[in-house]
Amino acid sequence: MKIPLFRSAASAEPTVARVTRAWADVLRSGVYVLGPQVRAFEDRLSAMLQGRQTVAVGSGSEALLLAFKSLGIGSAAGGNAEDEVLLPAYTFVACAEAVLAAGARPVFVDSAAFDFLPPLAHFRAARTPRTRAILAVGLFGDPTGLPELSAYCEGEGLYLVEDVAQCLGANVPDIEGLARPAGTWGDAAAMSFYPTKTLGAAGDAGALAFRDPRHAERARLLRNHGWRDGTHLCLGHNSRMDELQACLLLAALDDFPAAIARRRAIAARYRAAWSGGPIRMPLDAEGHAWNYFVVALSTRLGRDAFAAQLAANGIDTRIYYEKPLHRHEALRAWHDGRTLANSDRHSACSLALPLYPMLEDHEIDYVIEVVREAAEATRRLPT
Ligand SMILES: *Cc1c(COP(=O)(O)O)cnc(C)c1O
Repeated sequence: MKIPLFRSAASAEPTVARVTRAWADVLRSGVYVLGPQVRAFEDRLSAMLQGRQTVAVGSGSEALLLAFKSLGIGSAAGGNAEDEVLLPAYTFVACAEAVLAAGARPVFVDSAAFDFLPPLAHFRAARTPRTRAILAVGLFGDPTGLPELSAYCEGEGLYLVEDVAQCLGANVPDIEGLARPAGTWGDAAAMSFYPTKTLGAAGDAGALAFRDPRHAERARLLRNHGWRDGTHLCLGHNSRMDELQACLLLAALDDFPAAIARRRAIAARYRAAWSGGPIRMPLDAEGHAWNYFVVALSTRLGRDAFAAQLAANGIDTRIYYEKPLHRHEALRAWHDGRTLANSDRHSACSLALPLYPMLEDHEIDYVIEVVREAAEATRRLPT
């Protein structure tokens, strides 16, 4: 059996038929960029995010950059070249790229020992008088820590920017125990609709959500060359969402609650099947959106042997991320020398397994069996 790491929900026949009909109407309308589909999508997204103002953009990477620029962080957007943004070392490169493109300085923060996300104490220890913001990344779909980070940032006068590229659909209980969506805890939230994310387009797309409507207004200007009422009020970007993508995303939103529920059900089956074994399971956080199911072995050798055995049985896996940010050639200069040992170890030992709503029950059974055997085989490796 062949199990790809990912299969898009948009490729399911009923969705193909439904979206193709809707796309034909968009094509006939002659309006292809920032039109009624995009506005309808922004409204639906806003309703999902407790009424926050939303701004559709071209990608998740651009959403991050426009978040910093809209908040005035960094020299490119009215802030200071010394402005520091604290962000995880163990995350996708776009996080650091956005900080640097905004004209601010990235400060890498280490993960916890047995969790991919950095705990609040690590952010606190990296804080300096120049810190302007924390970038909280809901890595792999895990929104844990947002309430704490939100309270900390509020108390310290820092901005909290949420990268919800992987955790849209996740929620965390607030102090009253009410579930509140990821994307509503910070001053700005950046979303990606790259096909592999929990809400996926058929190409590139992204969006922003803001606490303060003035920041949303700024992002609306920046995404379209600073243009309003016949003049360029500021210089900006071309970061607009296409009508065809918005149209598909509207259809995907109809299925979104069921898609998240399916992800949670698959994660629960995996966890039940493999607990007590030699592979370390991701922490089962409340409200997790399970964008990726990432396990950890105890050594790099073990991880690589484990991945090879899955590959030999037709199961695709992937290493997220091969290196933490501070180990990349392009970012090494920004490493302040702080030890980031947990991030290093996560990169060496972790592996993403297939988990997506399109996975069928017999495929899940097969993954469970093959992983069990491969995990047993790693027990016999030297540690
Ligand atoms: C995918 C991703 C991004 C970037 O999104 P794109 O739409 O691919 O530009 C940013 N941050 C994280 C954590 C991501 O997973």
